[in-house]
Amino acid sequence: MAEYENVILNNLQFLEIMREDLVGNSFLFETQDEVLLENFSKSFAKFLLCSGKIKPCNECISCLKMDKDAHSDVRIYPKNNKNVLVDDVKDLIENIFLKPIESDKNIFIFNEFSSANLQAQNKLLKILEEPPKNSYIILNVTNPSKILPTIMSRCKKVRLKPLSKGEMLSAFQNKEISKLENAVEIAQGSLQKAELFLNDDVFLQTFKNCLNTILELKDSRYLLKFSSKLRAEKDNILLVLEIFESLFRDLLLIKLDKESLVKNKLHLKELLSVCEEYDGDSLDKIIRKIFETKKILESNCNADMLIDSLLLYILEVKYLCRR
Ligand SMILES: [Zn+2]
Repeated sequence: MAEYENVILNNLQFLEIMREDLVGNSFLFETQDEVLLENFSKSFAKFLLCSGKIKPCNECISCLKMDKDAHSDVRIYPKNNKNVLVDDVKDLIENIFLKPIESDKNIFIFNEFSSANLQAQNKLLKILEEPPKNSYIILNVTNPSKILPTIMSRCKKVRLKPLSKGEMLSAFQNKEISKLENAVEIAQGSLQKAELFLNDDVFLQTFKNCLNTILELKDSRYLLKFSSKLRAEKDNILLVLEIFESLFRDLLLIKLDKESLVKNKLHLKELLSVCEEYDGDSLDKIIRKIFETKKILESNCNADMLIDSLLLYILEVKYLCRR
């Protein structure tokens, strides 16, 4: 069963889509919340395939197979779980003209279709121009700017809204209530963020402190504020360095126009907002410095001093970059 099926089946946007005429269509679902995308499209497929009167009936063979992730007429890509490749589209083409096995529809779901390269997109485009009857192609997309306009125009586009607070609370109702309220507030309607936040408190706090440091460390007046916050993470100093490294690497990728490779996609907007403060060279220097600091940490140096000197270095590089 899709993990958050109960929430999604009652979601207003989901109900709205299901009310429409859904015969043989291509869909593009868009939001930055990958967890919502995956569960939304799975629930959608279950609804389409159900042969019961009130859908999903949870009793017919299709529903039972969907609950076990074992429906032969539903194919989920990418097969490598990373990037959509031309081989995934080839697999779709091999199967889309065949008769469905257990139902009367063939359904193809692409998770993170934004990762598909031009070759894969062009190949899919040919099918989207004239898809066989009773086939459904669902593209889950976190970054629509990576999708060919010709693909966009052939799909029914649905921009998924963040879940409401009530939906979020019921999605995680088995979690400890004290944690839950906090995580739901910060996640702002994103299942993906909430999962991350609920699974690892330490990670969340440290990540937040690191991100805020990058977003707000404008000059030396702010140094004490952030260095004392990060010093509170003393036991996690390596985690602090890892998170910094991943965030600065993302900033560098943005500078190099390789946004699709950014790891912290959920924070892309925030990263974009500070990326003007650096040039490629300064980011390269900072990443080297972090790497160096990790080496020193291995030799058991005073962690407080390491963080202070790293933050000072970042300020210095930013200052030189402004001149
Ligand atoms: Zn059913």
